[in-house]
Amino acid sequence: MIIGILKEKPYERRVSMQPASISSLIQKKKVRVLIEKSAGDAAFLPDKDYDGIADGIVDYEQLVEQSDLLVRISTPDDDLMGRMRSNQILVGVLNPLCNMPLVKKLLNHKITAFSMDMVPRTTRAQSMDVLSSMATVAGYKAVLDAAMHLPHFFPMFMTAAGTIAPAKVLVIGAGVAGLQAIATARKLGARVEAFDVRSAAKEEVESLGAKFVQVEGALENSQAGGYAIEQTEAFKKRQAQVIHEHAVKSDVVICSAQIPGKWAPRILKKETVQAMSPGSVIVDLAASSGGNCELTERYKNIVYNQVTIIGNTSYTSTLQADASKMFGHNVMNFLDLLIDDEGNLNLNFEDEVIRESCVSHNGEYVSKRIKEFYTEST
Ligand code: NAD
Repeated sequence: MIIGILKEKPYERRVSMQPASISSLIQKKKVRVLIEKSAGDAAFLPDKDYDGIADGIVDYEQLVEQSDLLVRISTPDDDLMGRMRSNQILVGVLNPLCNMPLVKKLLNHKITAFSMDMVPRTTRAQSMDVLSSMATVAGYKAVLDAAMHLPHFFPMFMTAAGTIAPAKVLVIGAGVAGLQAIATARKLGARVEAFDVRSAAKEEVESLGAKFVQVEGALENSQAGGYAIEQTEAFKKRQAQVIHEHAVKSDVVICSAQIPGKWAPRILKKETVQAMSPGSVIVDLAASSGGNCELTERYKNIVYNQVTIIGNTSYTSTLQADASKMFGHNVMNFLDLLIDDEGNLNLNFEDEVIRESCVSHNGEYVSKRIKEFYTEST
């Protein structure tokens, strides 16, 4: 099998496989790997770093034509879709539950497409879980970004010029990104509080030295694989009130609440932002799925009533060197499962990881979750 690593779209600075991951894959499997010219440039991995590791550094047209399996983080555009052959394989981050037009195109073109953001969050699949590795990057960078915008110090200072109190940080949603945000804010010396609807998050939050904010009566479902579920209207009202009370006392609010496959819950109300202190900062990591804050603007940083609201959160692209390292490692582990030792595609749909990450094959849906989602919504 020939694997082709495509160059990303201009706004994406990561590369889907770095030389070390390619080298590990080639050692394990009978595959050849081609890389598109300059694919790693934006991640500080020039072509010379791939030289002697990949089997060739080629143009885009050649790469698409010669490869059996293409890897790219950014979603395919019309040009790529137009060039791909039926049954050619695509591995990427396709966000299929939010991109019906793309899913339809993949089905119509009979592309065998795998979306790594659909890999189930199970212990076995941890090493392939791009959502977790990228959320780690985002949680870390969100706090640094907040610190850069905040007109106060994060740590406490006792100096001859007086004592500076530590910054107060509220983290909404204590999943992967939220926990990393808590850890980073604590390392910078802030006082941290965190809120989540899952009671299991309490212990994790406290183990990082933060205070857990509890709102009684959250719905939980043990069948939801550790994920949150939709809450009642009565709970949402209580939650908004409690969040209001804590947010107005905070210098920084990091929003990272999400329910997979749904628009982000709107937790931080306009009235709350209006009551926050001037100079406060909100980083809305959920901006791309609608935002946890009512005022967030996707891909934009705005100032509302002297509160900075950061919706431009493409942090994985600004920590592109290590983000590429982590992403490439996840891809390598995924291809290790998807390709047998002889270099053939191992389409074992009995395997939950392969089935649930497969968007389309032979013009049919494969993932049960995607199939049910589109069958119910059409
Ligand atoms: P996750 O699923 O691990 O965590 C989300 C958390 O939100 C869970 O703990 C869940 O219980 C909690 N939650 C759900 N509904 C809630 C509610 N109503 N109130 C409080 N908590 C609630 O998700 P993650 O991987 O940590 O990602 C978090 C967010 O960060 C997502 O919106 C994701 O898209 C975004 N993200 C952004 C970037 C970036 O570069 N900008 C990268 C990765 C992730």
